[in-house]
Amino acid sequence: MAKFDPVIVVIEDDASIRRFLRTSLCSHGFVIHEAETAKQGIVEAGVRKPDLVILDLGLPDMDGVEVIKAIRSWSALPIIILSARNGEQQKIDALDAGADDYLSKPFGFGELLARIRVALRHGSRSSEQAQNDIFQTANLKMDLLNRIVSIDDAEVHLTPIQYRLLSVLVKHAGKVLTHQQILKEVWGPSYKENAHYLRIYMSQLRQKLEADPTQPKFLLTESGVGYRLKI
Ligand code: CA
Repeated sequence: MAKFDPVIVVIEDDASIRRFLRTSLCSHGFVIHEAETAKQGIVEAGVRKPDLVILDLGLPDMDGVEVIKAIRSWSALPIIILSARNGEQQKIDALDAGADDYLSKPFGFGELLARIRVALRHGSRSSEQAQNDIFQTANLKMDLLNRIVSIDDAEVHLTPIQYRLLSVLVKHAGKVLTHQQILKEVWGPSYKENAHYLRIYMSQLRQKLEADPTQPKFLLTESGVGYRLKI
């Protein structure tokens, strides 16, 4: 788990949002460092050794995606982006560049807090992943060593591609994955444009794993962006 007082760097040029984030996150035991520009943010993310970065994509001096690339060149620390409500392509670009999650403005504090907790959990999970061969969420269990998938302890048979798709989601559990990221990992770079494969296989997985495939509980759609396996 995260340290006792997780450190968060907030990179946001809007003073009112920074103030909102500072007061609400400080009252929940987070230590906050703020930056108003991309350049300042990259420096803060380097020197403060944060557990997480909250990054506004619309910054005055540089595209937020460039900030993600800069941070990713030396660190895998969780990055949650803040973006405009209809900025689907912007979110996709940011996720493809290595962001972990996003919130559309305006967002509620409860939602932000939930995303922060998942991102911090995910950050600590990836280091444990190697020795952790069993993944479990809700009534889904995946034994990665023996390649057994079960729901309520009843084994479910998956085709090789369905299995690979689920493995990719499990590997990045909790994190939003873009269509392109999933296609690349499951089918390889040559299939990157064939988004309809993904829709078909995702719907098959839901048929096999979700109690109600039209109301998925853990194989979640991130509208216009991609998918997320809920943890
Ligand atoms: Ca802004």
